[in-house]
Amino acid sequence: PIAVSRKHSIAIMGADGIGPEVVAAGAQVLQKLAQLDGSFGLEFEDYDWSSDTYKKTGKYIPDGGLEKLKKHDAILFGAVGAPDVPDHTSLWGLRLAICQGFQQYANVRPTKIFRGTQSPLRNASHGALDWVIVRENSEGEYAGQGGRSHRGQPWEMATEVSIFSRHGVERIMRFAFETAQKRPRKFLTVVTKSNAQRNGMVLWDEVAVAIAKEFPDVKWDKMLVDAMTCRMVLEPQSLDTIVATNLHADILSDLAAALAGSIGIAPTSNLDPTRQNPSMFEPIHGSAFDITGKGVANPVGTFWTASEMLAWLGEEEAATKMMEAVEAVTERGVMTKDLGGSAGTKEVTDAVCAELERVY
Ligand code: ATP
Ligand code: MG
Repeated sequence: PIAVSRKHSIAIMGADGIGPEVVAAGAQVLQKLAQLDGSFGLEFEDYDWSSDTYKKTGKYIPDGGLEKLKKHDAILFGAVGAPDVPDHTSLWGLRLAICQGFQQYANVRPTKIFRGTQSPLRNASHGALDWVIVRENSEGEYAGQGGRSHRGQPWEMATEVSIFSRHGVERIMRFAFETAQKRPRKFLTVVTKSNAQRNGMVLWDEVAVAIAKEFPDVKWDKMLVDAMTCRMVLEPQSLDTIVATNLHADILSDLAAALAGSIGIAPTSNLDPTRQNPSMFEPIHGSAFDITGKGVANPVGTFWTASEMLAWLGEEEAATKMMEAVEAVTERGVMTKDLGGSAGTKEVTDAVCAELERVY
């Protein structure tokens, strides 16, 4: 047998809805890849943390759960959210608790149009919309600060306070410039709303100017978020790497995913760039209860997620091979319904596994 020089321990957490279906498909493909590659090993451990366990125990994360999770090298996550649990309860209970507990302050969302798939944009095909959106993942509009007074009264007030710290803005800006620097075009667009929001957003503008000086080889420009939505639709080729706040990038990345053809294909990486904690990788789509259990969920988002995870773990070659195999399959038209095909989750997964045998 070939000696395995690198071993990575992966926590598998499907959570809710189609989450367990797509992460199972992802684990199957990863297993196959590791087997064929032979130069690295993967070890999986399943976690059943979900809205079901929350409903039974009152907790998404059991006592001491994060410490246990911390021993893994990465987390492959499905989706969280259930029809009978308020969205903010499930989101904060599981996903954001992990992001914050592990200081995963950088959220990275690449976009592209796969061969064989269609963008709703006329004239945009494979090669257009090759973007990476870097989202601030720890503060800003989703800092969880604020409150409500006079509940139910006509004069009720609610505040939702955005928090931007210099430390937080500097570290995400630096990460975004580094990300742009590693890409062929070395081009970053900084998105804010500093005409209307004159504190936090002006801090973003100032930090961008300062950090840009550390990266003389990276070209950059800035956009207001409203104008940015138009530019994404009208001049997609003018963009490459994009950085924005927690809220703005959340919205822009859903737009990006839709422009690329389906929210079923795009991945998200929640990274702790200091690598002191495991990073978490998940498809951008949600739990999609309307198609849960039907075997029709698109697993491609999780395959791309798995590829991003491998790259983060240093397995760049395997990550590239994974994407080659996936695109070969979409190019042949083996796709789920959301991409205009008629294949089920299993068919697409088996096709990718078979394609991997060819790629290796
Ligand atoms: P959540 O509340 O967790 O965000 P959701 O029910 O809003 O979940 P989303 O995942 O946001 O669902 O997606 C919206 C719709 O897109 C779903 O109802 C589903 O029909 C479709 N969809 C999402 N993900 C996939 C996928 N992987 N494959 C096929 N269709 C999908
Ligand atoms: Mg949703």
